[in-house]
Amino acid sequence: MVALAGYDNANFKIQNGGKEFIFKTYEYDPETLALVEAENEALLHLKNSNHCTFPEPVPFADGAWIKCLEIGGRKRICRLLTFLDGDLMGNLQADVPMIESLGIMLAHLDLQLQEFDHYTIRARKWGWDIQYLHLNQAYIEDIDDPHKKSIVKYFYQQFEEKVRPTLPELRHSIIHNDVNEWNILIKNGKVSGLFDFGDIAYTPLINELAIAMTYVCYANDDPWDKAAALLRSYHSILPLEEKEIKLLFYLVTARLCISVCNSAHSRKIQEDNEYALVSEKGAWKMLFKCLETNPVDIENKFLQACGLEPEKTASTNEILKQRHQVLSPILSISYKNPIYMNSSAFQYMYDAYGNTFLDAYNNIPHVGHAHPKVVEAGRKQMGILNTNTRYLYDLLNEYAEMLLQRFPPELSKVYFVNSGSAASDLAIRLAQAHTGREHILVMEHGYHGNTQIGIDVSDYKFSNQKGQGQKSHILKAPIPDTYRGKYQLDDGTAGKMYAMDLIEDLQQTELPIAALIAEPIIGCGGQVPLAKGYLKELYPAIRAQGGICISDEVQVGFGRLGDYFWGYEAQEVIPDIVVLGKPIGNGHPMGAVVTTEAVAESFAKGVEFFSSFGGNPVSCAIGKAVLEVIDEEELQENARITGNYYQELFRELQSVYPSIGDVRGSGLFIGVELIKNENKDHNAELAKHIKNELRNRHILISTDGPYDSVLKSKPPLCFNRENVLQVVEQIDDILKQHR
Ligand code: PMP
Repeated sequence: MVALAGYDNANFKIQNGGKEFIFKTYEYDPETLALVEAENEALLHLKNSNHCTFPEPVPFADGAWIKCLEIGGRKRICRLLTFLDGDLMGNLQADVPMIESLGIMLAHLDLQLQEFDHYTIRARKWGWDIQYLHLNQAYIEDIDDPHKKSIVKYFYQQFEEKVRPTLPELRHSIIHNDVNEWNILIKNGKVSGLFDFGDIAYTPLINELAIAMTYVCYANDDPWDKAAALLRSYHSILPLEEKEIKLLFYLVTARLCISVCNSAHSRKIQEDNEYALVSEKGAWKMLFKCLETNPVDIENKFLQACGLEPEKTASTNEILKQRHQVLSPILSISYKNPIYMNSSAFQYMYDAYGNTFLDAYNNIPHVGHAHPKVVEAGRKQMGILNTNTRYLYDLLNEYAEMLLQRFPPELSKVYFVNSGSAASDLAIRLAQAHTGREHILVMEHGYHGNTQIGIDVSDYKFSNQKGQGQKSHILKAPIPDTYRGKYQLDDGTAGKMYAMDLIEDLQQTELPIAALIAEPIIGCGGQVPLAKGYLKELYPAIRAQGGICISDEVQVGFGRLGDYFWGYEAQEVIPDIVVLGKPIGNGHPMGAVVTTEAVAESFAKGVEFFSSFGGNPVSCAIGKAVLEVIDEEELQENARITGNYYQELFRELQSVYPSIGDVRGSGLFIGVELIKNENKDHNAELAKHIKNELRNRHILISTDGPYDSVLKSKPPLCFNRENVLQVVEQIDDILKQHR
């Protein structure tokens, strides 16, 4: 007698009269007994199948199919089945003919099972049936890695959105419900047998195929081609409906989630059950692959495999035409070949044609596109209360406190608005109200917003050829740039020298400055970090002449810089006002201004400040979720480690290609400046070429700087090493071909 592996029962292989059998025993409970009886009936129904062999129940000497016996002092359910021989599919490399034979066998099995019904199976409600995915929800917490947890939650949300509403419309029947590579037997390269009907369920028929697809494909490098082969062969025997085919991608992801949730749970309660973890690695690999997969691509592939035509998607030209009819051409569009976006997840974006883009550029979805915690926070609060700050509600106080905890104690008051522009605008008003002065000192190439005040303080806008010009109350400081500027030693001395020059100039003008506004890394200037030590020298001078200091953290804040949560920390200063935007709401329109008690008091002497939407409960819930995810997933640390690796790889490229003049930035905020020659002539053509070529290779980055010659990458903070490698390898390849 040989003990065999089992998920939650004990199986023994026995020999008698030259024949082999499998003796199965289960811990007694009435529900298991009823299910084992139902399973036996299903197997008796499948007896003499022409297409495949299944285990056959063997009666005890008295004719009983099942007996409850005392074994080792415990009551156990016992039964005997014929043993099937063959090679386990899991031990073989599954090729297309093998997979096609599985599809055909499975379709015949399901046709036969359509003739079988059993009320015990109909009544079964449990987590391994995909339609009851939510029953596994508690196990998500057993997954150790917080980012993996979020990926599973994301796919749960997709299931609720895409599958749940359609479930009642689907045809249901009894299915095997666990066609995996360790239950399938192969002889001569074809499927010869299927066993373990212990998961048998009454559920949407399409789940049978989804489960088989999951396990047959997850170990393959080309899982979706294999899946299409399985589908094609199944469909040739048991034709599927379009609505069933369209759900397959989400059903596969749901099954993978069930698998990884149960593996995590098993590990927690029963560390040594190897069998329970048998599919864990493959399931995670496949879930990550699913994230890189555009669901539209799979839907089209699957429809085509069944001889159905996918719905026609409008061309980008058609969409552009519609857009131009209703929107002004003043709104620019990225890339020569624009992208018609459909959906997104974490660091990936999916277009309407089935392509997946690696997002190495958008900094607004800071913790990842469609992050499930952020989505859930907003969705939930929207259904409870959404109002304005003229009422009292806990979320406003909670979020304000939580945000202020990220700042030193002197920055103790916060105003909520709905954009970075509104925040910059308010910051300038605060400064002017507090100082009673008007003049603002701004940085060359700085950008702070699209309101009139925002533009007035943004050299990037007012100095544009079509811009309004510099207003009389604006003073402009040259960029303290250690790559191109007057002082290039980035050891702290250059920053000091730039500041001292500026202070001297300011003293000569004798204009009373209300505030200095500066980004710690000047985005539109070409991702230029302020030279080290610059603000440390400049802030005291601004304050000494009666002004205050504003740091615009819209681009750099919330941990993106890796070493620092806020950009001003790199300059060893504490501003009087901080402007927040973009990442604060992960794409939900939010902005905030943080300031001191004294500035807030001055402003409070003026007319009431009110923002209809600023600080509403939905925004507060979202803002809270963003801060929590940054901590839970240790995203600042990821920005540091992944960002350092990113810069390292770019520096390696720089040593090979003289056209890379400079690599700069911090964490996941990186600029790569392209030059034509040793004189550092700006190479906008090359930057544009790389940007568009990367787009064609499904990687999103952009260009910036006064000459548009700087590549910028500031991806969602869940960006990983493989993503970094992919971007840099592609740039390497583009540069190689451009030499
Ligand atoms: N400040 C900086 C540094 C920015 O980059 C931007 C937007 N690019 C803003 C302010 C304005 O933010 P928003 O577009 O959300 O109004």
